[in-house]
Amino acid sequence: MRILVVDDSPHHSTMMVYELRKLGYAVETATTGAEALDRAAREQFDVVMVDVKLADMTGVELCWHLRTKQGARHLYLIIMIPGSMTDQYHELVEGGADEFLRKPLDWKWTGARLLAASRVVAMQRDLERLATTDTLTGALNRRRFLERGAEEFLRARRYERPLSVLMLDIDHFKRVNDTHGHGIGDEAIRLTVRCCQQTIRTSDFVGRLGGEEFAIVLPETKPLSAFSVAERLREAIAAASLPVPPSDVLRITVSVGLSWIDPADGGIEALLAKSDVALYRAKHGGRNRVEVEPQLRHASARRGAAGARDVAAS
Ligand code: GH3
Ligand code: MG
Ligand code: MG
Repeated sequence: MRILVVDDSPHHSTMMVYELRKLGYAVETATTGAEALDRAAREQFDVVMVDVKLADMTGVELCWHLRTKQGARHLYLIIMIPGSMTDQYHELVEGGADEFLRKPLDWKWTGARLLAASRVVAMQRDLERLATTDTLTGALNRRRFLERGAEEFLRARRYERPLSVLMLDIDHFKRVNDTHGHGIGDEAIRLTVRCCQQTIRTSDFVGRLGGEEFAIVLPETKPLSAFSVAERLREAIAAASLPVPPSDVLRITVSVGLSWIDPADGGIEALLAKSDVALYRAKHGGRNRVEVEPQLRHASARRGAAGARDVAAS
C-alpha cells in the first residue's frame, strides 16, 4: 500500500514517514495541496494522509479536489485533525475524507486504522480489476481499452506524437471451436493475448474487443516500427503451439490490420475503424498477414520488406 503524506510541518512529516515505514508502508511526502494534487495525478497512491491545515488550502479542500480528480483508482483519504477539534466531523466526511485521525497521532490506533484501510484498498483494487479487465485473458476489456485509447489519442494529438493501432482477429476460429471444443477455443484466445503481451512494450496495451478480436495501442510508435511489431506478433502466434489432449497440438494464425494517427482523425475510434478496414483486407487477402490502412502505393504491407518501405515512406 502506497501512502502520500501531505503536511507543511517538516518535523511532523519526517516523524510520519518514519512511523509509517516502520509499519511496512511505502511513503512519499508533499508539503502543499498543489504539490499533492500534482503528485497524485502522476503517481499511483492508495492512501493520502492530509493535515487539516495546509499553506495553500485546507485539508478538506484538498480531499475534495483529490476526489473529483481521481481517475479509475479510488483514493482512501485520511484527514489529520487537531486534538482540540470536537465537531465538524460530518463536514470532513462530506468533503471526501474516509477517515479522520487526531493529532498527535497515536501510532497503535493509526496502525489499526491503516490495516482497516488496506482492506478497503484491496477491495477497491479487485473491483477496479473486475471492471476494467477481461476475465478470460487479463487484457483490458473493451470499455477500458477505449478509455485508455482515447487518452493516448488526445496526448498524441496535443503533442504531435506518433500513435499506431493494431487490430487482430484469429483466423478460422469457428473451426477451432468446432474441431476441439470451446475449452480449447478459450485456450487459443488466451495464447493470443499472451503472445501480444510478450511482444509489446509496457507502454503499449492490449484490449479484447470481442470474442476473438483484439486491439493494441502503441503510443510513441511510428508506422514502420508498428509494422515490425505486427509482423513479429503474427509470426509469434503462428509459431506457438497449444497442446490438445491427449496427443494433438493446435496451431493458429491471426490477421492483423495496422493504422496510425493522422490529422484528419477525430478520435481513437477513427483509428480502430481504419485498422478494421486493413484487417478486412488481410482476411480477404488470404489471412495470416498484416495489412495497413491507408493502403500504400503500389503495394500492400504483406510483401514484407517492400511493404515496410512503403510504411516507412508514409
Ligand atoms: P475468420 O478467419 O474470417 O475470422 O473466421 P472465423 O471463423 O474466425 O470467424 P469469426 O471471426 O467471425 O469467428 C468468431 C467465432 O468466435 C464465433 C464464436 O463462436 C467464437 N467465439 C467468440 N467468443 C468466444 C469465446 O469467448 N470463446 C470461444 N471458445 N469462442 C468464441
Ligand atoms: Mg476470426
Ligand atoms: Mg471475429
